Amino acid sequence: MSPPVKVSKILGARCCLPPAAVKLLARLLRASISLGADRKKKRKRGELTPRNTESVEWKPGMHGTFRHTQTLKLLLLGKIHGFYLEALARLPRDGLRKLHYCSLIKGGYCYGPMDPVSNIIFNTIWYGTAFPMHQDFEFDFQVDMICTRTLMRIECCSLYGIVAFLRARFSSLSEHDALWHLLLANVNLRLAMEMVEQSGFLIGGTDLDAYKKAAVDSWHSDPDALVKFTTLSLDIEPTKLSHMLTQTLNDSTVEHLAMLVSKSSSTKSKEHTLLLNEVSSCSEILNENQKKLIPAIRRKFKADQDFYVRKVNAALNKFSQQKGVDYELHIICGVNPKVTEGSTAFLFKKRFKYEYFHINFLAAPKGSDTATTPRELFFAECTNGDKDEEERPSLCFPVLCSSIDDTRCFCCEHNGIKIVHPFFETYNGRRDDFQEMASGRQDVLIQTIISRYEFEVDGMFTLKEDWIYFDPNMDGKIAQMNPIPDWARKVREWGRIF
Ligand SMILES: [Zn+2]
Repeated sequence: MSPPVKVSKILGARCCLPPAAVKLLARLLRASISLGADRKKKRKRGELTPRNTESVEWKPGMHGTFRHTQTLKLLLLGKIHGFYLEALARLPRDGLRKLHYCSLIKGGYCYGPMDPVSNIIFNTIWYGTAFPMHQDFEFDFQVDMICTRTLMRIECCSLYGIVAFLRARFSSLSEHDALWHLLLANVNLRLAMEMVEQSGFLIGGTDLDAYKKAAVDSWHSDPDALVKFTTLSLDIEPTKLSHMLTQTLNDSTVEHLAMLVSKSSSTKSKEHTLLLNEVSSCSEILNENQKKLIPAIRRKFKADQDFYVRKVNAALNKFSQQKGVDYELHIICGVNPKVTEGSTAFLFKKRFKYEYFHINFLAAPKGSDTATTPRELFFAECTNGDKDEEERPSLCFPVLCSSIDDTRCFCCEHNGIKIVHPFFETYNGRRDDFQEMASGRQDVLIQTIISRYEFEVDGMFTLKEDWIYFDPNMDGKIAQMNPIPDWARKVREWGRIF
């Protein structure tokens, strides 16, 4: 195929070009320039020519498979989000607000020998026991809000970990096939392995090697420790353990599990123990700006958390009065502070003023027995202002019967934030923008929304929220890679923490 024909075929694909296609175009262009400039020059061995560019991996038409793979990832990430909400609902309120919030977002992966929710809970308890926060960095207030993007990141880390595990056990399994089987098995690793075998793939390697690969790919801070943890022989029957983890837990059950884990073995790797000793005797891990940033950003986090808690309590109070049952907040587990009243088409005329926020939180009737009355997931739409609550009354609904993809919200999707919305109710972001998109009056394209959502949801990167939960024992690399030249400016520029 001649280069012009090939280029026109790539550009005529009528879809966003993946990086491999752009690379191929660049190679074709370089090869054409080289041909035009010096036709008689002898070509060196290995130099690109129109013919040997055929070996480049991407070919027109492969984009469809990429899109399906990406769709599978988003579906799985939606499912995994549901597991994390369930795990948060099962953890005890006091323990979650004092301790487990941090262990869950740092090491509460959903892969392991049990079902995903039990794995999240057990990994969270183990992480908190094996890697307790450095005592100088413990929070001096209770946490009522899990930062939205940190929750999304651990969900993404979990997905890449579980895919790595499967592909380590089945060396010929593609990423697409791993995702497909995980979807069929509802993210249950053992069930997925059975299904992969039934599909004709040959199993190989060991669980230990696969856990090591999973720990590395999911950014575990001590992969060797995770491998040791998976081989722990606990002083408890596996069926009894599974039964305990599938119930709503209280503080004494969690303490009992933590004791079992710590009694069985010290799971920290030798390298990590050495590192911890080094860190405890060395305060040089943070520069002067970082030392000032951490307490300042924690004060800001507390102030912003208090704002959302105040708003949620007011909305929940209103709901309680309507229902005649007094509800109590368990934990906030997702916020999108950028919700506009009506359409976003004239946002620039309003100087990008966002009147509302959307929020998900877990709550239960006050004083109820959580063993028999599970915590419910709620959605609320509240005003971002402090004095316009009468003009803009809040909405508050339980969303037990909804799932992440039941209904759509332009504002949440456009900001790449996972919020479960109520299926039977109306809220800002549900209709206006989508109707305008359908009639061609909205500049934003559906591809833009999908791309933004994909970018935020399917992403593993350092977050500025990491400074809130900073622990010198575990996060030395964050400090090393982010020197922070001006802490006060960083705090000023941050905006509301959610
Ligand atoms: Zn929304």
